[in-house]
Amino acid sequence: MLSRIKKYLRFTRRKPVITRRQDHTISRELIDRDALKVLYRLNQAGYTAYLVGGGVRDLLLGRKPKDFDVSTDAHPHQIKELFRNCILIGRRFRLAHIRFSNKIIETSTFRKPGSHGPDTDAETPDKNTKHKRSNTFGTPEEDARMRDFTINGLFYDIENFTVIDHVGGQKDLKRRLIRCIGEPRLRFPEDPVRMLRAIRFASRLGFTIEKKTLHAIIRFRNELRNAAPARLIEEVYRFFGFGTAQAAFRLLAETKILPLLLPALDEHLRAAPDTHPSLWSCLEVFDAMQTPAGVARETAIFAALTYPLFEARLQQARSTGQQFVQHQELARDVLGDLLGTLPVPRRVIDSLARAFDAQRRFENPKGKFSKKRFVMQSTFADALFVRELVLRARGEDTAEIRQWTRMREQFLRSEAQPADDCASESPVSPEKTPAKRRRRRRRRKPAPATSKPAV
Ligand code: ATP
Ligand code: MG
Repeated sequence: MLSRIKKYLRFTRRKPVITRRQDHTISRELIDRDALKVLYRLNQAGYTAYLVGGGVRDLLLGRKPKDFDVSTDAHPHQIKELFRNCILIGRRFRLAHIRFSNKIIETSTFRKPGSHGPDTDAETPDKNTKHKRSNTFGTPEEDARMRDFTINGLFYDIENFTVIDHVGGQKDLKRRLIRCIGEPRLRFPEDPVRMLRAIRFASRLGFTIEKKTLHAIIRFRNELRNAAPARLIEEVYRFFGFGTAQAAFRLLAETKILPLLLPALDEHLRAAPDTHPSLWSCLEVFDAMQTPAGVARETAIFAALTYPLFEARLQQARSTGQQFVQHQELARDVLGDLLGTLPVPRRVIDSLARAFDAQRRFENPKGKFSKKRFVMQSTFADALFVRELVLRARGEDTAEIRQWTRMREQFLRSEAQPADDCASESPVSPEKTPAKRRRRRRRRKPAPATSKPAV
């Protein structure tokens, strides 16, 4: 017991490894200008100010950081005093969001282990010192040890441009390892979402998950059932956008997290791994594709995740001899099953159901008039994205995508023209333009009672 305590004390009192400016690759030119402004202003006001987290990690790896976070010993209200563009958020641990025109620099006060009380109880104003006393806020070292993985626990000090490492992050960056800070057996149950974060960083950076960390993920994966669904779906979105979604989902399957996160998808992979296109090819294609303008990112993500299952169910329905299949209904069923565990926004489900349903229109395009109605629909961009994804994932020719896009542009142009033409030089009365005549004719024709599309 005594030796354990000694070991713990040695561990907690270890001196940080400090890397001088000339021995690391972080240059201020690579740091966002607004993040630098925040760091400098805090520093000039007498506070410690570090760039922290993914920003430091990515700069050391020579990658472009997604965002820049700052940590400081200034307390939230002190940060607010320094920045007019600052709002404080969060009830348990108040964070400062410093807003700039197109970004937010998240600025937190150094945390302390177990700092979970409401902020008002935590702070005791002390008028004689610049800093307030607090039982919520900690030292830089405590803050580093509260972070998830060693590669995310590094600080860049704006005062002397050094990198400060309390947790062995620099070594792990070199070894390309995702390793929990502290004991994985405790850190994952404490916050199960960290398991998904481990998978995100391993897949995005091409790193290996260190053995003890990996074992703990497999052992404690069921704890994910206790995580807030909103955080889970946020993490699912974060698997995408770096060209490594396929790698992330393979890791989710290997660690047996997939059945917890998306049970229907896991079942599908077991029952029908060879759908054409397969989940893996859809994800691979997604990784290589840009989401086109007009298609919501969430819709694109869930299209890649759910289309193979929709296709499998469609084939199943056909093989059981069902004469008519309502594609939209089937799509909604599939999406409902698949996304049952995650709070996917209603609008995403609706647009995906319509986009999946529309796929048969690409396969059997009717006359010009019908094509026009199809390409002018507000959901056409989603449908075309799904079409391209599926064609590419099946390894088929995609020339038709350009044709459909051109056709839509032409129709849009021709829609814009008549109004001007009619007003100025057209001999045809504006009441009697061909488009209006057609519309009137359509109104007169009664719509069919039901339109069950044949499979
Ligand atoms: P990304 O490049 O995706 O933004 P990131 O590492 O910056 O990756 P963020 O979610 O922006 O991730 O979080 C910033 C930092 O906050 C992390 O690097 C980590 O140090 C810390 N952090 C975030 N979430 C947790 C968590 N659940 N547990 C412990 N530390 C966390
Ligand atoms: Mg970040």
